[in-house]
Amino acid sequence: MSEGPGTRYETWRALALWGEEEEAAALEVIRSRSLFRYYGPDLRHRTEAFEAAFSDVAGVAHTVAVSSGTAALTAAMIGLGIPPGAEVIVPAVTFVGSVGAVVAARGVPVFAEVDDSLTLDPASLEERITERTWGVMPVHLANVAADMGPITQVARRHGLRVIEDAAQAAGVGYRGRPVGGLGDAGAFSFQLDKNITAGEGGAVTVTDADVYDRVARYQDQGGQFTTSKGATRGTADSPPFIGTNLRMTELTAAILSAQLPRLVPMCRRLRDVARQVRAETADLPVRWRRLPDEDGSGGDLTLFLGSRLEARGFVADLNAAGIPAHTLYQGQPVTANRAVREGRTPWGVEWQRPPRLRTSEGLLGRSVTIGLGAAMTDEDVDALVTAFRKAHPRQERSETPT
Ligand SMILES: *Cc1c(COP(=O)(O)O)cnc(C)c1O
Repeated sequence: MSEGPGTRYETWRALALWGEEEEAAALEVIRSRSLFRYYGPDLRHRTEAFEAAFSDVAGVAHTVAVSSGTAALTAAMIGLGIPPGAEVIVPAVTFVGSVGAVVAARGVPVFAEVDDSLTLDPASLEERITERTWGVMPVHLANVAADMGPITQVARRHGLRVIEDAAQAAGVGYRGRPVGGLGDAGAFSFQLDKNITAGEGGAVTVTDADVYDRVARYQDQGGQFTTSKGATRGTADSPPFIGTNLRMTELTAAILSAQLPRLVPMCRRLRDVARQVRAETADLPVRWRRLPDEDGSGGDLTLFLGSRLEARGFVADLNAAGIPAHTLYQGQPVTANRAVREGRTPWGVEWQRPPRLRTSEGLLGRSVTIGLGAAMTDEDVDALVTAFRKAHPRQERSETPT
C-alpha cells in the first residue's frame, strides 16, 4: 500500500516490479489505434486475452473485465439478480467501495463484525440475517482470504448469495483454491494500490454461464443496442435488459496482461518474507492477526498491540527506522464514514444509523500492518526484523478497551 518516501523499499506491490513489458504492451495498443475492446482499425483483442488469462488465475470459467473494482462488485450483484431493496451483509472493516457497490446495485448494506482475522466473523454474519437478507460480501482484506469455509456454510444454510470482494487479494488462495472462485461471484480491482494495476480496472469472476451472460451484458449497455456498427452482447436466448457502460479499455488490459505472470510468484515471495519475519520474532509475545489459511495468503504482516496508543507508537518507531507501517483505514471501520453511518445515498437517506461494531473498532484500532515490497532485498527483511524487535513490547500487555 501507499507509503511516502523515506521508507527503505517500494511498497506499491504492482509498481515494484513494473518494467519494459508494460511499456511494450501499451505501445503496441497505442500503435494499433484500437483502444476500444469490441472494434477498431486493428483490434488486438487484449481485453478478451486478459479475461481468459485471469480466469486461469482465479480458477473460474469466466472473467468479465470492467472499469474498476467497485464496478465489478456492482456488476457481480446485478449478474446474480439482486432484487431492489435486498440486504447484503458487509464486514465493518473494508473500503467504502464495498458499500458503494451495494448501493449502486440498489441493495442495502448491513454491517457485521470482523474477528481477529480482520475478516467477516461467521457468527456475526449469522446474527445479522433477516428475511430481507439476499447476500453476503466477505472481503479478503490485505492479501488474506476470509474464512470461506464457515462463511459459505452459513450462507448456504440461509440461501444467501456469496459475492467475494477480492479487490485486495488477486493471487491469494484459500485451502488450495484461488479466491474469486469460492463464492457465487468474485470481484477484483486493478487500481494503483492493488496486486496488479493499470491505474484503474476491475474484473468479475464467475463460473455460472447465465450469471456470466448477465454480467457481460450489464457492463456493455445491457448487451443489445443499435449503433452504426451494430452489436449485441450476451446470448440471443436470454432477455436483454438496460445496462450501463463499465467497459475496460484495450490499453488497460494490455498493461494488466503484462503484469499477470508476475502475480503468483510475487504473492509467494511476500508470503515467504512474512513467514521469515514471524519466525525471527517468535520469541516475542506478538499477537499476529489470525490467518484463516496461511498457505494461501499473499504476504501480510498485521499484528495487534495492547491499545490504540501502543499501536501508534509502534508505527512511529518502525517508520523512524525506514520500515513502512500503518494502521489500516486509520483504525476506522467503514461505518465511521459519515455517509455510511447516516445512510446517505445519491437518492436520499436509505437506512438508519447502524449499531456500533465495537469488536471491529477495537481490533482495527489496535492493529498495525507492516508494508512489504515485491522487490525487498534480504537486507531489507533483516532491517525490518531488527526494527520490529526493537520496537515491539517485550511483555504481553493486558488488553485495554479502546
Ligand atoms: C479497492 C477496493 C475496492 C474498490 O476498487 P476500485 O477499483 O477502487 O473501485 C473495493 N473493495 C475493497 C476491499 C478495495 O480494497
